[in-house]
Amino acid sequence: MSAPDWVPLRDELRHDEPYGAPQLDLAVQLNTNENPYGPSAEVVASIARAVTDAVGTLNRYPDREAKALRAGLAGYLGHGLDATQVWAANGSNEVMQQILQAFGGPGRTAVSFAPTYSMYPEYARNTHTRWVTGQRREDFGIDLDAALGLIETEQPHVVILTSPNNPTGTALPLDTVSAIADAAPGIVVVDEAYAEFRREGTPTALELLPRYRCLLVTRTMSKAFAYAGGRLGYVAADPAIIDALRIVRLPYHLSVVQQAAALAALGHADELLMRVDELRATRDELAAWLAAEGFHVAQSDANFILFGPFDDRHAIWQGLVDRGVLIRETGPEGWLRVSVGTPAEMSTFRAALKEVVAS
Ligand code: PMP
Repeated sequence: MSAPDWVPLRDELRHDEPYGAPQLDLAVQLNTNENPYGPSAEVVASIARAVTDAVGTLNRYPDREAKALRAGLAGYLGHGLDATQVWAANGSNEVMQQILQAFGGPGRTAVSFAPTYSMYPEYARNTHTRWVTGQRREDFGIDLDAALGLIETEQPHVVILTSPNNPTGTALPLDTVSAIADAAPGIVVVDEAYAEFRREGTPTALELLPRYRCLLVTRTMSKAFAYAGGRLGYVAADPAIIDALRIVRLPYHLSVVQQAAALAALGHADELLMRVDELRATRDELAAWLAAEGFHVAQSDANFILFGPFDDRHAIWQGLVDRGVLIRETGPEGWLRVSVGTPAEMSTFRAALKEVVAS
């Protein structure tokens, strides 16, 4: 798709497509790393009550600084954080774009390590930030020497590390993050969208916040928290960094309804996160099954698994779609990514994959 000539679009956008995984109406949706378990009737009723109260105030603008929600998120994160160290926006997508609006921009460079989340170059494009990628190792970890070399040459204003990484599931050791934070001349962002799914003993970069003023850790309620439809992402950092993000945010970017709903959902964190252990166990079973079937499987600390390689991954993806199973055609050439669903969804996926591979 290209915009027609008469549409006076910026030149660099003319041949771009809107980002997004195909949204196909199939029975088994394993393509966007959502939590497959929706809220209980009790949680639905509680969020609905909070939204009803908020609707009674729709004639007024919301709290621009979302103070109550930020305090709730800080409480959820723990690590001694308070509301001044947390910022929230419409999904961690918006948080990340705000980070590049504030710390990237014309004449500035952002660095990340591929394969990684495919939205990052789009945030860079939208903010006119120069985008540079280093390559991850064959096991999808970050080669620290190569990373430090790239940072030395590029002197990036922003480094984005993703842990666990999408689409590979790879978590980073904290000493890699701290070595990069020691060397980076600017901001280091650790995108921890999938943090709650990490395996026992895998640390969070939140532990490093007291040591690094320019470290930012982003999180989202979209994945483990089972709140993708609510659109709520957030970041923890030094209060001065949070204040810098407040400069670029649109006023009232989080509606009164969004703030009330997210705050109510946070009040049910235990229940919304209840299935995380089960999803981790299902992930490990799926990884073992895929390996036993003879596929290469990337070690995953997230709620998805990258597997392959296939000579024609599109044909495999299409074969699964034809059998009512939607996974994601993403990552290095030949690999596919499947999100972890319910046990029933996993058995449908396994049966469909066996059929497609045999056909
Ligand atoms: N970061 C990573 C690594 C992701 O995989 C995603 C979603 N796929 C996001 C950020 C954005 O999530 P959201 O905007 O729903 O918070």
